[in-house]
Amino acid sequence: RDPGVADTSIVPRDVNRVAVFGSGLMGAGIATSHARVGIRSLMLDVDDDRIADGMKRARKVVEGRIKIGRATYDDLANMLSCLDTSTDKSHVDDCDVVVEAITEREEVKTALYKELAGLMRDDAILASNTSTISITRMGKSAPHPERFVGMHFFFPVDRMQLVEVIRGDDTSDETIATIVALSKRIKKTPIVVGDCPGFLVNRVLLPYMNEALQLLLEGASMDAIDKAALRFGMPMGPIALQDVVGLDTSYYAGMTMVNAYSDRAILTPLLKDLVEAGRMGKKSGSGFRKYT
Ligand code: NAD
Repeated sequence: RDPGVADTSIVPRDVNRVAVFGSGLMGAGIATSHARVGIRSLMLDVDDDRIADGMKRARKVVEGRIKIGRATYDDLANMLSCLDTSTDKSHVDDCDVVVEAITEREEVKTALYKELAGLMRDDAILASNTSTISITRMGKSAPHPERFVGMHFFFPVDRMQLVEVIRGDDTSDETIATIVALSKRIKKTPIVVGDCPGFLVNRVLLPYMNEALQLLLEGASMDAIDKAALRFGMPMGPIALQDVVGLDTSYYAGMTMVNAYSDRAILTPLLKDLVEAGRMGKKSGSGFRKYT
């Protein structure tokens, strides 16, 4: 069977309520995408401060669209009426799909999955927004490996159409069909891909991003690198892109690639040094560049 093909004869399951773990760059965008089309969404994080930051991000998505005339204040009110928040994991008990969008570290993610075993409904689907980590391997820690799948969004979630739906070895056809249908319902374009470190997009993107950092080490300026990529046709330069996706996420994702493809993948020491100095990118006020 080709892992990159969805079986269109399978009827997807109904999805009425979704939970999203993580209210960071991705989690807030993912929860908002569901709430905007009227799907009841619950956004969870570890404390109230992070939830408050996540709510600011969620509002900003629709407020940005209001500014350019693509949404109204009614849309904002409707989105907010479908979006709940909590720091209490037990509130996922009535959700059909739980999307995990927390830190890109396997041990942190699998610790959460083990906790969710007693809390999620027995027939619910657990989907990870991981950038690089094996769905098959993490599925072994999930309550039901056949109902574990990758649902990989891209930043900024409200503007990026693509969702990679990643099939692990144990993922059932019904799980794939349900996540494909859900992605379409929130107006995204799903592609079903097989499981390998970096999946499809990051297997291509991360070596490109890393090469830009190598150029920096060889003496090129940040502006020269970013401008060259823009001239080439990229929507954003690779240094600017690293700062918006978060250097911690880039570093952890890069480590997964280096461990998986040790014969060819490298990771510049720059990312680790900046992360250790607390410079996580735009979200922390500084990364490669400074943000006020
Ligand atoms: P982020 O640092 O902005 O947010 C992560 C959030 O998860 C934080 O608010 C943190 O408090 C929360 N968290 C950590 N452990 C938790 C737990 N046990 N329960 C609840 N919340 C918890 O990170 P992000 O950029 O949103 O990335 C999240 C995931 O999405 C990662 O797996 C990342 O690889 C993936 N991803 C990121 C991007 C990107 O461009 N940043 C793109 C695609 C996928």
